[in-house]
Amino acid sequence: MDVNVDSLGTWRRTHYTSEIDGEMDGEEVIVMGWVNSIRKLGKLVFIILRDREGMIQVVIPKQKVPEEVFKIGKSLGREDVVAIKGKVVANEKAPGGCEIIPIEIKVLNRAKSPLPLDPSEKVPADLDTRLDNRFLDLRRPKITALFKLRSEMLRVVRNTFYQEGFIEVNTPKLVASATEGGTELFPISYFEREAFLSQSPQLYKQMLMAAGFDRVFEIGPIFRAEEHNTRRHLNEAVSIDCEMSFSDDKGAMEMLEKVVYNTLVHLKDHCKREMEVLDIDLKIPDIPFPRLTYDEAVDIINAKGVEMEWGEDLSRAGEKALGEYMEGFYFITDWPRDIRPFYTLPKEEDPKLCKAFDLMYKDLEIASGAQRNHIYDLLVDSIKRMGLNPESFESYLQAFRYGMPPHAGWGLGADRFMMVLGGQKNIRECVLFPRDRHRLTP
Ligand code: ATP
Ligand code: MG
Repeated sequence: MDVNVDSLGTWRRTHYTSEIDGEMDGEEVIVMGWVNSIRKLGKLVFIILRDREGMIQVVIPKQKVPEEVFKIGKSLGREDVVAIKGKVVANEKAPGGCEIIPIEIKVLNRAKSPLPLDPSEKVPADLDTRLDNRFLDLRRPKITALFKLRSEMLRVVRNTFYQEGFIEVNTPKLVASATEGGTELFPISYFEREAFLSQSPQLYKQMLMAAGFDRVFEIGPIFRAEEHNTRRHLNEAVSIDCEMSFSDDKGAMEMLEKVVYNTLVHLKDHCKREMEVLDIDLKIPDIPFPRLTYDEAVDIINAKGVEMEWGEDLSRAGEKALGEYMEGFYFITDWPRDIRPFYTLPKEEDPKLCKAFDLMYKDLEIASGAQRNHIYDLLVDSIKRMGLNPESFESYLQAFRYGMPPHAGWGLGADRFMMVLGGQKNIRECVLFPRDRHRLTP
């Protein structure tokens, strides 16, 4: 045991720093956290103590505290971990209107100096340095706030699903074949065979419709071996996925609107402090969100001077052009069948098109969904049309032979959604430990 550090003993935290105010003048409290900053002025030591919820000033005047307390106070350095038992003193001049005068201080651990990164946000650091020292970076109030928002977002999303009668499920992330036959797969060795990391729960969600689960959702990782480095792609992302039986594309879009709308309303009502720290003001959108057809999107993009042929997927330049034209959230519907996955249902009235949709926020795609193809023969045709071999989808196709209801669903990128909610331009900001083309640690 390091003799220079104290144990907690019987101490328990009585308050987070944010729970203490001037009205508690004279009360005894125990707070625990990090030394965010410290000033030593001869006979007076000022500490700003930081915990997850905020900061409080601790004042240690030599004359008014036990000798030992002053000695310990003077010995402290930035980011040391301390527990402080003390009296609350109302003081209008202190940040937050009060401060603590310690009765006893326990040093729970020391931090080495110099720090590789400044958590007090005084010294800016580039993103790479920050991600290399992510645990320190995450101590910054702005960064902590973003992940509290993320937690609240997940809470509302889950609650909305529960309210709407969905069952939460977990599907395998080790899979034998590609979901969509794409090349963006990470191969892994699975004993004597090759396997892959799952790029989407798509096929499993659909099999659960055949299982009669009616409405399912899953919040889990998706893995994509995308080579390109962009500010909106990661190689491991979190997808909020759902699938609903006896529903069409419209029903799925309405569910997605509910999820997005409820999240915005909840964050605006319950996360005022985080919003303030992050300096963001969420606008609550009107429901329903505007709906553009793919045809209309192509026209807008071309009118903006970005060339695009009918039948092509949106290029980055195309998305940007649309983003300049459209405010906030909007759907793009009625996509050409050939640029959507095989499991999408073609439109009866115009089989060149399909019942797919994307949810966009300005120039960012945040979700993709569709009414699915639930008719066996049509599905096998579509698989072949895409140049894929139906045999490699046998265990999936089996689910369509014995009573598959019509169904629809979507996948919403949790990290992309956070970019919108947290006002972030780089998806890496919204993920604790991002995985990109160059980063596998920490
Ligand atoms: P994009 O065209 O932007 O690369 P996508 O159409 O390939 O995305 P989908 O397969 O439709 O992505 O996945 C559904 C959602 O999952 C996307 O709308 C997005 O929010 C999220 N997503 C997909 N791939 C990634 C990724 N590599 N990094 C982060 N989020 C992703
Ligand atoms: Mg998509």
